[in-house]
Amino acid sequence: MLNYEETEDQKLLRETIGALAIQFGDEYWRNKDTSGEFPREYFEALARDGWFNLNVPQELGGTGLGMVETAIVINEVAKKAGMAASDILMAICVFAIQTIKSFAKGPLRDRLLQELAQGKHIMSFCLTEPGAGVNTLDIATTATKDGDGFIINGAKIWITLAHEATIMNVVARTTPKHEARKRTDGLTIFLVETNNLRQGKIRKKRIDDLSMRSLGSNEVFFDNVYVPSENIIGEHDKGWDILPALLNAERISTASMSVGLGQLVLEKACDYAKSRQVFSRPIGSNQAIQFPLAKAKTDLEGAWAVTQRASWEFDNGLDCAVAANVAAYMGARAAFFASDRAIQTYGGLGFAKNSDIERHWRDSRLFRTGPVPEEMALNFLAQRMLGLPRSY
Ligand SMILES: Cc1cc2nc3c(=O)[nH]c(=O)nc-3n(C[C@H](O)[C@H](O)[C@H](O)COP(=O)(O)OP(=O)(O)OC[C@H]3O[C@@H](n4cnc5c(N)ncnc54)[C@H](O)[C@@H]3O)c2cc1C
Repeated sequence: MLNYEETEDQKLLRETIGALAIQFGDEYWRNKDTSGEFPREYFEALARDGWFNLNVPQELGGTGLGMVETAIVINEVAKKAGMAASDILMAICVFAIQTIKSFAKGPLRDRLLQELAQGKHIMSFCLTEPGAGVNTLDIATTATKDGDGFIINGAKIWITLAHEATIMNVVARTTPKHEARKRTDGLTIFLVETNNLRQGKIRKKRIDDLSMRSLGSNEVFFDNVYVPSENIIGEHDKGWDILPALLNAERISTASMSVGLGQLVLEKACDYAKSRQVFSRPIGSNQAIQFPLAKAKTDLEGAWAVTQRASWEFDNGLDCAVAANVAAYMGARAAFFASDRAIQTYGGLGFAKNSDIERHWRDSRLFRTGPVPEEMALNFLAQRMLGLPRSY
């Protein structure tokens, strides 16, 4: 039987995380966005109230919840406090905890999960490179065998939170492309503890950019960075095989954020449309204003339904790649459309920093380009769903 109704426990999760999120209001996020400063007070409140325990396994003291609940929490935070607030939950609960609990091994796994739950780490996912773009198989960062570990050399770009990160998942080439047995062999994912380097240096250079400025993007350079073999996530040379699990979880998270942000701006736009009087009547009584807002609502509803499906498939061990890509694509477009229409509804006021609409509009644009650009989502869906030739 299909049941789209959230359970009482899931509703309580929304209520509780929502109550925390609204303690950090528009002014807090506006100031952080302007200064580019990490929202440490908010991060510490999440840790204090146990939110990084959400999907840590119960045997390690966590709450043991899955992707369905993680998506709900991320969505509710975006709805109450915007994109940057919810992206932090993705960084910790998804990039870090979901990946480490699924693919790290031994004492490292248990130690890091417990430390993450206590808010002792900030995580960055280091995949994108200047020379490779969306073609991950072309990455040039190398990890070469050295005694009981590997030495990483290379450059990454656009890495969110790298300037704050204490742990990084780094995708590197361990076998040159031309020597790999299979096209997709030869990549390995390493967990790098940045405060605990036995050898080498990690340099970071902040990029002045458009979206989620309080979290920040960076160029990251690995100069002879030593990593022990036990810090391999998954298997040596088989990083490609686990990337879909990481990327699907990321797509479900970005979809959840997009839908939440879309709901936030839509609510603001509707409130404004009801109260702003022009020609002696509310602007919301004009269909030119109403229809696009109603379309935004339908787009967001559709995107959330597919996000729920993708997270349910994820938790049930099913192949969720199609639903995750559809959700990320639909969510990103729905959030941007809703934000754009919110600007139009606000008129000139939408351009004022203190309306917060311009910040949400900038933030909502990101997920159309990254982590999965919409062209690459469509390339994948054309091949997988329509049987068309692979174009990437
Ligand atoms: C604010 C921000 C934060 C980010 N955070 C992170 C992070 O934390 N970690 C990380 O690893 N990366 C991060 N990224 C990188 C992001 O994932 C990439 O920017 C994105 O994947 C696109 O890669 P690219 O910029 O190299 O574009 P390119 O690969 O140069 O592509 C440019 C354009 O061409 C299109 N294109 C390329 N090939 C094809 C094709 N075959 N068919 C159709 N279209 C094609 C792309 O879709 C894109 O629109 C971030 C980016 C931004 C902007």
